[in-house]
Amino acid sequence: MSVPASMLPSVTTLRDPLVKSLGKSAGDTFEKVLGLRTAGDLLRHYPRRYYTRGDLTPLDSLHEGDHVTVLAMVDLVSRIGPGPDVKYNHKPPKRGSQRLEVIVTDGPGKLQLVFFASVGLHARQLRQGSIGLFAGTVSSFRGRRQLVHPEYEMLPDTNDTPLMTAEIAEQFANELIAVYPASAKLSSWRISRAVDAVLDKLEAGEDPIPADIREKYDLWPRELAIRAIHRPQDRAELTHARKRLKWDEAFTMQAALAQRRLAAAAMPSVPRPPIPDGLVAAFDRRLPFTLTEGQREVGQEIAHDLACAYPMNRLLQGEVGSGKTVVAVRAMLQVVDAGGQAALLAPTEVLAQQHYRSITALLGPLAQAGQLGGGDQATRVALLTGSTGVRARRSALTDAFTGDAGILIGTHALLEDRVRFADLGLAVIDEQHRFGVEQRDALRDKTLGSRPHVLVMTATPIPRTVAMTVFGDLEVSTLSELPAGRSPIASHVVPALERPRFLERAWQRIREEVESGRQAYVVCPRISSETSGESGGEDADDADAIFDADADLEGGGQGDGQDARRPPLAVLDVAPALAGGPLAGLRVGVMHGRLHPDEKDRVMTAFAAGQLDVLVSTTVIEVGVDVPNATTMVIMDAERFGVSQLHQLRGRVGRGAHAGLCLLVTEAPAESAARERLDAVAATGDGFQLSRLDLAQRREGDVLGSAQAGRRSSLKLLRLLADEDLIASARVEATALVADDPQLTKHPAVKDAIDDFLGDRKAEFLDKA
Ligand code: ADP
Ligand code: MG
Repeated sequence: MSVPASMLPSVTTLRDPLVKSLGKSAGDTFEKVLGLRTAGDLLRHYPRRYYTRGDLTPLDSLHEGDHVTVLAMVDLVSRIGPGPDVKYNHKPPKRGSQRLEVIVTDGPGKLQLVFFASVGLHARQLRQGSIGLFAGTVSSFRGRRQLVHPEYEMLPDTNDTPLMTAEIAEQFANELIAVYPASAKLSSWRISRAVDAVLDKLEAGEDPIPADIREKYDLWPRELAIRAIHRPQDRAELTHARKRLKWDEAFTMQAALAQRRLAAAAMPSVPRPPIPDGLVAAFDRRLPFTLTEGQREVGQEIAHDLACAYPMNRLLQGEVGSGKTVVAVRAMLQVVDAGGQAALLAPTEVLAQQHYRSITALLGPLAQAGQLGGGDQATRVALLTGSTGVRARRSALTDAFTGDAGILIGTHALLEDRVRFADLGLAVIDEQHRFGVEQRDALRDKTLGSRPHVLVMTATPIPRTVAMTVFGDLEVSTLSELPAGRSPIASHVVPALERPRFLERAWQRIREEVESGRQAYVVCPRISSETSGESGGEDADDADAIFDADADLEGGGQGDGQDARRPPLAVLDVAPALAGGPLAGLRVGVMHGRLHPDEKDRVMTAFAAGQLDVLVSTTVIEVGVDVPNATTMVIMDAERFGVSQLHQLRGRVGRGAHAGLCLLVTEAPAESAARERLDAVAATGDGFQLSRLDLAQRREGDVLGSAQAGRRSSLKLLRLLADEDLIASARVEATALVADDPQLTKHPAVKDAIDDFLGDRKAEFLDKA
C-alpha cells in the first residue's frame, strides 16, 4: 500500500537525518565536512557570533591600523593582470601575477579590497551588487584605505539588489546576523540556509526538561530556545536561548552521571567493616603524630564507605602535604583487617618507591608477617614496578595471588594482566591527575565477582564543576588543613635577564640553607640538551594526564616568534655547571626519568637521608616526594611549566618545620603572558585558586579529556568555570529526577537526550559504572 507524497509528514525531528531536509548531496556534504548527521546535530552547530549593524563601522570613518568589520555592497570588481580571460600566445601566465580589486560601498563611503590569491574564487563570491560583511585590518596604499585579504561573509539573496540603498541598510539595522563556524567548503551562509530549511519544518518534540524545573529556573521551552539561538530578534532572546541550551547540556550530563552512580551503587561489593583491635588500631598507636581533625573526619567517611555492600567511589583531595597517604594507609589496613587486600597505584616509579619506603617504615613490625619480630596481626607489603627484578616480581605476584601480601604498591605494572589478587578489596590511586579513567577501571577488574572499593587521591584541587562533571561519579572528600607545624612557602619570580643579581642571590640562598643543615631542589625542564622535543617529565611511568600541563604551555612563554629562543635548560648541563660554579663544594645529585630505577631509588634514599645537599632534577619529583628537610626549590625556565605543575613542584618544600622558599627563574619578558602566569603562582599558595586559573586557560575539551572532547553532541555552550552555579542546580534537579525514575520510563525525552549526548560512548560509559 502506498501513501501519496502529500500525506507524508512534512516535519523534521531532531533525530531525523539531515539528508531528509537538505537532500542527499547537501546532507552528505554536511556530514563529511562538519560531521553533522542529524537535524539535531546541525541545530547544535551554534553560531560563532552575531553581528548587528551597531557593531559595524561606517566606511568613511575607518582609520589605518584598525581591525574593523564593515557591512557593504560590492560596487566594482576588477581582475588586474593576465587571467584566463586574457588572450596569450605562448605560455600561461604565472598565477601570482593576477590580483583582484574590489570596491565596496555602504552608501556614503567607499573601501577597496585586494586579493592576491584565489582570485577566481573570490571573484565568484564577490559579485557586483551583493552585500557582505568584511573584516580585516585597514591599511593604506597610495592614499587609499584598503583591506588586504579580508575575511568576509556574503549575505544571502542580495545579489539582485541594484544599489546599497537606505532601505537595505535599514533591513539589517535591527537584525542580528548569525555567523557560523564555517569551513572553506561550507560557508557560514550555506550553513545558515540549511538551518533555515531545518527550522522551517522543525518539530522538536517533548521537552526533556520538565515544566516545573523550567518554571523554577526561568527556562524557555527547548524549541523556542533552539529557534532563538539561530534567529534571535534581539540580545535578550539570545541570553534566554543560551541559558536554556546550556541547561540542556548540564542537565543531560548530570542525569547520565546520576544514572551511572545508581548503577554503580547496585554493584555488589564485599563490605569491609572496621574491627576494634586490628591493624588500624595498632597503626594508630605507632603513628609519630596525631591525626589532624580533617584526617580523622575523612577517615571516618572512608571507614563507613568500606563497610557498605556496594563499592566506594571516593575522591580525596587535599593540598600538597596535607597528609593523604596516612589516610590511605588506614583505609588499606581496614580492608586487610577484614581479610581483604589493597593496592596502591602511584603514577611514577619514584613515588611508588617512596610510598613503599615510607609505608613499610610507618608500619614497622606490622608489615613483617612471617618474619622474626613481625606482629601477630602483621601483613606483608609488596612493591611492583616496571623495573622490579625477576625474583622480586615473582614473589610479589605470588604474594598478591595467594593473599599473603595485604598491600601491594606499584606503578602501571600493577595493571598488567598477570597481576591477580586473591581478594582485592580496595584500590587506592594516588595523584589521580596523572591517571586517566581507564587505569581506574583496569584496577577495578582485578578481582572477579565483586568490585573493589576505590579511593582516588589528588593534590591538584579539582574545581567543583570539574568534580561534578568529569569526576561526576565520585564522592568528594577534602583535606583542607595542613598538619600543624607546617611552614608557609614563599614564592618569588626571578627575572634572570632583567635582574641577573637576583639569580646570584638564589644560589647564595641555597648555600645558606645548606650551611644551616637544609637541602634544596633545582628543577629543569629537560634531561639533556641533546634530546629534542622531550619534556623533563617523562618517566616511563608517566600516564597521560588531565591536569598535567607540561605538554601545553598555553602559548604563554612559547608562542609568537620565539624560534630563536635558546633550548630549555637541562639537568645534565645545569648540575655540573652549578657544582663547578655557584654551588661548588656542595654535594649535588642528579635525578631524572632516564636513570636506572635502582639508581633513582639510591639517589632518593641518599637525598632523604641528607647525604646530598642539592638535587638537580626534572619533574619526576613533581608529585608526592616527601623530604621534610628540603626547604628551597629553584625552578629554572619556570615559564615552561604549567600552573598546576609549578604548584605541585613547590609542594616539595616547606614540608617540615622550616619555612619553604620557591624561586621561579625565568627569562620571559616583563608583562608577557608567561610572566603573568608566574606572578599568579608566586602570589598565591592556594592550589584551588591556581587550578581555576589553569582551567581558565584551557579549553573545556582539554579538561574533559579526549573521551568527551570534540565529539558530536558533547558540551558546546557550557563553560565549566563560568557556569558553575548552573551546573550545580542542574545536578540537583537531575539527581532528584533520576532518583525518582531510575530507568526514566516517565521521562522518555530525558532518556533520548542522554542517548544523543553519549552517542556511541553509551555502552562504554555505563559499563564503567
Ligand atoms: P600528601 O597529602 O601531599 O600526599 P603526605 O601524605 O605525603 O602528603 O604527607 C606529608 C607529610 O606529612 C608526611 O611526612 C607525613 O608523614 C606527614 N603527616 C601526615 N599527617 C600528619 C599529621 N597529622 N601530623 C604531622 N605530620 C603529618
Ligand atoms: Mg601524596
